Amino acid sequence: MGCRIVASVMPAHRAELEAAARAAAASGDADLLEVRCDRAGDEYADWLGLLTALPLPAIVTLRPRAHGGEFAGDEAERTRRLAAAARIAAWVDVEAGSAAAAAPNAGVARRIVSHHDWSATPRDLDALADELRALHPDALLKLVVTPRDLDDVARCATTQRRLAAAGIDASCFALGELGAPTRLLAGKLGAALVYGALDGHAPTAPGQPSVATLARLHRVREQTPAWAAAAVVGDPIAHSLSPLLHSQLYRADSLARAFVPMRAPDLAAALRLCDALGIGGVSVTLPHKQTATRLASGPVHGERWPPLGGATNTLVRGAAGWHAANSDAIGFAAALAAAPPAMLAALTPLRTALLLGAGGAARTALVVLRERGVRVTIAARRPAAARALADEAGRERGLAPVIDTVDWERRGSIPHQLLVNATPIGMAPASDESPFPAAAFRPDSVVLDLVYRPRRTRLLREAEQAGAIALDGVTMFVAQALAQHRHFTGQDASPAAANRARAAVDEALDATNAAN
Ligand code: NAP
Repeated sequence: MGCRIVASVMPAHRAELEAAARAAAASGDADLLEVRCDRAGDEYADWLGLLTALPLPAIVTLRPRAHGGEFAGDEAERTRRLAAAARIAAWVDVEAGSAAAAAPNAGVARRIVSHHDWSATPRDLDALADELRALHPDALLKLVVTPRDLDDVARCATTQRRLAAAGIDASCFALGELGAPTRLLAGKLGAALVYGALDGHAPTAPGQPSVATLARLHRVREQTPAWAAAAVVGDPIAHSLSPLLHSQLYRADSLARAFVPMRAPDLAAALRLCDALGIGGVSVTLPHKQTATRLASGPVHGERWPPLGGATNTLVRGAAGWHAANSDAIGFAAALAAAPPAMLAALTPLRTALLLGAGGAARTALVVLRERGVRVTIAARRPAAARALADEAGRERGLAPVIDTVDWERRGSIPHQLLVNATPIGMAPASDESPFPAAAFRPDSVVLDLVYRPRRTRLLREAEQAGAIALDGVTMFVAQALAQHRHFTGQDASPAAANRARAAVDEALDATNAAN
């Protein structure tokens, strides 16, 4: 059987339990309901009575404070309560090493033997798993760890895969944002269960995604170890719509593939984690685009080397390393090509551009603009970075005389037809910031913000108020993703899939704007 989704709730009273059970069943996104009975108090017997009528099989958990829960009674009382649950529920969760776990299982329920490490990842997770397996051969093993870095997450994923390959029912995952891929790829890793939160209910553990995200976006129940997978890797990553866009493409074209977010302070560690998870494609985002070029062993077949501007936004796993490409260039060119007529008039012929930032996206924009003969001025908060980029691009292409730099403080004084924001300033959640002084916009100029979330950034709003033409980063985002999809899958997305993915991105952006 594939991975089953558990909606985990910790109600405070009976009515809340009933409402959660109804919501879990109605959602269609959960296969089981974990009832954390920590707060049941005197209502416990009443709650157990309810379990027989629940629309979903129940896991009863009574987590004591010593194991990170809220149950305040003594261990003898807890063992009695769990024994009562075992006569009624489908599953009972008992903590490894507790008296409840040592007590014989006299009921009908299957046991989940759980081990939670709330501060670290045990050094030898495999040995711990084997020890628990020997003590509880009939139980489903639940191993939950707190990763300090991505190598901890990789060890956790490796243990889960090893247990699955040995045919052992287990749910081994890492907590928090770092650990998210172990939950979102639970089916691919061969986990028997994955825990999620119900909409409108607080998560019962750090980093718990919603059951809707697990079921609908990542299709965890459909995943098998044979599925391919890709990830968007960056820091921060929560704002990224790449998981939504690529997952929609996969679903619409019925591809056996998953796409997950990976927060990665360190790209090299992220690539090691990709290997542990079986991830073969990476969307590289800030701040790793230049590091990605350094870590790659060569280009994706048929692509230029080094990638345009030395910036890599796409990595594809080959037998001997990661192969690099830059699909941002296609996206940037698409954004300019999709310009409305008023903008095209303002940009024809395009002679001057002011580029804000000197990172990965700026490098790509610089090369695309230079290939069109545009005179570019770079403004970056570190003047040395701006100069280095100008010198490098100039050396590479013999273009030095037409690439200028200006101090960040003087960026408002430079004449230009096109202003490109290639910094993250204005990106959610800091969406009340703008990288350009409102008084310095030039009427009839075009302002292209590469930030796409929110769609209407403060930069674009103020540009329009000043009579400039505003162009958001969504067209570039979608175009670069479609090009990346070809690298990951070896095929084009169908037009229907591309339309559906674009609509999903638009909907998510509209929802963000409405919420702000
Ligand atoms: P990056 O490599 O980290 O470069 C960011 C640049 O912005 C660096 O020059 C950085 O300066 C500068 N910067 C950061 N914070 C700043 C601040 N508070 N004030 C002034 N400068 C600041 O990032 P990237 O990959 O180029 O991405 C830049 C932005 O473009 C991101 O928001 C990204 O989401 C967006 N983007 C969008 C698309 C799309 O498809 N629409 C594609 C690519 C990128 P330091 O070097 O001094 O830190």
